[in-house]
Amino acid sequence: MIPVMRPLLGEEEAQAVAEAVRSGWVAQGPRVAEFEKAFAASVGADHGVATSNCTTALHLCLYVLGVGSGDEVIVPSFSFIASANAVRYCGATPVFADIDPATGNITAETVTAVRTDATKAVMVVHQAGVPADVNALRTALGGLPLVQDAACAAGSTLYGRPTGEGALLAAWSFHPRKLLTTGEGGMITTDDEELAARMRRLREHGMSVSAADRHAAGRAIVEEYGETAFNYRMTDIQAAMGLVQLRRLPTIVARRREIAARYQELLAPLGLQTVRDPEYATSNFQSFWVVLPDAAPPVADVLAALAEAGVSARRGIMAAHLEPAYAGHPHGPLPATEHLTTRSVILPVHHDLTDAEQDTVVAALAAAIGVAAAAPAAG
Ligand SMILES: *Cc1c(COP(=O)(O)O)cnc(C)c1O
Repeated sequence: MIPVMRPLLGEEEAQAVAEAVRSGWVAQGPRVAEFEKAFAASVGADHGVATSNCTTALHLCLYVLGVGSGDEVIVPSFSFIASANAVRYCGATPVFADIDPATGNITAETVTAVRTDATKAVMVVHQAGVPADVNALRTALGGLPLVQDAACAAGSTLYGRPTGEGALLAAWSFHPRKLLTTGEGGMITTDDEELAARMRRLREHGMSVSAADRHAAGRAIVEEYGETAFNYRMTDIQAAMGLVQLRRLPTIVARRREIAARYQELLAPLGLQTVRDPEYATSNFQSFWVVLPDAAPPVADVLAALAEAGVSARRGIMAAHLEPAYAGHPHGPLPATEHLTTRSVILPVHHDLTDAEQDTVVAALAAAIGVAAAAPAAG
């Protein structure tokens, strides 16, 4: 079976993890601090705050903006459900904005269409690694805070700069389904020192002095708990792995872009819309999605046919408003979201995917949708 995704892990990660274990410091400590610095630097941010995952990172972002009961936060339904759930964790209401069918991202227009006096913040998702046009959103929002769900976007560029650079708050994921992995893990990047300091306390029970700092001080320091907070910490075992993964990022992105370019070329004769770079950005192709033509069978049938041909594909990116957890949740029309989520599939992309495997995927897809595939490119 050709897997839809496989993390790129090697002996270096295994060794780094073993060293963390041998050091005796396995909870949040010096390696987390080092990973925070290195990751923040890689996206051009002043501060990194590591978390247990991106879902908790998103919760902290909204929490420090003061999002609470009675507030609305605009968010795409077209996203992993954690984006909308983070709003609910704050007791606030997710308000779903529709997306640009070419990028899968919310836009200034779709956000403006659902904005109300209760809108407290907007969460933009760089879906599948395709950066949203953040500048256009900022212009439309005026002073309204913009949180960036950059879970999938490590290594993507926006306006020629790393995605997330200049973000008020950007949240990242290190789940194996994303480009970099620490098993589970997340990070918030920001240039705001006060927000970073508050999030550091909030992720660690509200402690005035972190456990790692108390240990390093070498003398007794009694910490204080100023507010009810959370345990959203990353471990040093995870950070050790993250440091190695971060060094691999350029290689991982380059390979994924190569694979995506080849898919685009092979799929063009099939007349399918595929995910691609917007003119203002480059994607890391965290997920490679294609939209099935109207005449093609339902997605479930196409996935079954692909599985039979040895290809593990996935349904398109989910839409939160179609899940039972959001049944009855009010929303306006979301036609682009509903079209993409019900008519797209995600094809395998991973570092070691061979040309022959890619040809198999394309041939299987062509057969499944009843279109003749072009002969595979020579070589
Ligand atoms: C994966 C993902 C998340 C959640 O990340 P975790 O680290 O698994 O909590 C949030 N938002 C988006 C867009 C994602 O793809």
